[in-house]
Amino acid sequence: MLRIALLPGDGIGPEVIHEACRVLTAASTRFDIPWTSELFDLGAERYLRTGDTLPEADFIHLRDDFDAIVVGAFGDPRVPSNLHAKDILLGLRQRLDLYVNLRPVQLVDARLCPLKDRAPADIDMAIVRENTESVYTGIGGHLRKDTPHEVAQSVMIHTRMGCDRLLRYAFELAGQRRGVLTLCDKANAIPHAHGIWRRALAELAPQFPEVTARTLYADVAAMRMVTHPQEFDVIVGDNLIGDILSDLAAALVGGLGLAPSASLRPGVHALYEPVHGSAPDIVGTGKANPLAAILSVAMLLRDFGHVDAADAVQSACTAAVLATETTPDLGGNLATAEVGTYICAQVAHA
Ligand code: ATP
Repeated sequence: MLRIALLPGDGIGPEVIHEACRVLTAASTRFDIPWTSELFDLGAERYLRTGDTLPEADFIHLRDDFDAIVVGAFGDPRVPSNLHAKDILLGLRQRLDLYVNLRPVQLVDARLCPLKDRAPADIDMAIVRENTESVYTGIGGHLRKDTPHEVAQSVMIHTRMGCDRLLRYAFELAGQRRGVLTLCDKANAIPHAHGIWRRALAELAPQFPEVTARTLYADVAAMRMVTHPQEFDVIVGDNLIGDILSDLAAALVGGLGLAPSASLRPGVHALYEPVHGSAPDIVGTGKANPLAAILSVAMLLRDFGHVDAADAVQSACTAAVLATETTPDLGGNLATAEVGTYICAQVAHA
């Protein structure tokens, strides 16, 4: 029995998670997958009502009683500090040690690619981003804040353990794909914090002779992802570089509405979420594209061994894009729920 925790969150989160759950139901019926879910009331509404962000009891329940967590989005204009989102998402990331952030990027329709003359076969990559270290730990501070002599410091943390475990995951993934791993860094300008990645890569590479490992400076990588996207298979980078390059990659294939992600402590904890945020500007309009959330659920199904179901959901999303049975951001004129209905029907007949 697959046990799924649902955290729809804020803004368009509940709208897209509702459709993702309908698709999960359709897939489980078609492919006979037993699953249960529990809805968590976490997000801006609860924070404004009670002051709770991620209460300890909820955290322990999420940690101990589920196979996977499915998240919508967190962020609400009524909470300008974004405190609840930081506590919930960064809290889960750190406390569950979700050290892999995986973002597959695949072009399904040449029409959605901003590069000229690119076909789907040219863009099929997976970004593996370190999710717990680098400059995102919050370590740092100010001296003489708000004076002309202010000093600001954010500390970049890289541990050898953090490099090794992420690179090992990336090598294994590359071995299951086309066998090309590109470490992107700024080891020229940040020799200590990024040099450790290169040394870790060089030591690990002989254990994966089937994988071609190379290094690229992140600025060069950004250029080549635009000029030669077909060169890239698995891209690995620290939290900062991975953050930037994964958004660049998402833009190559149709943008946020189509970008799924997983945050993993492989074999222990798994959290799936669309890359996009809460998009407060389109809440309640029916314009929220549910495909990124639905594709995140496809990643979940695949990770838990339901490959046929994952393939069916992914093919249904591709069919929706190719037939322009989509929300307006992808050129269609369907509402959020209509896209969900289209995908469910495709999955039911897969
Ligand atoms: P947050 O602050 O929570 O990250 P945001 O909405 O400011 O959220 P993004 O998610 O990056 O940031 O979205 C930027 C814009 O892209 C949104 O305001 C919205 O107009 C559009 N957008 C994002 N996600 C979707 C989606 N799933 N469907 C349609 N449009 C979207």
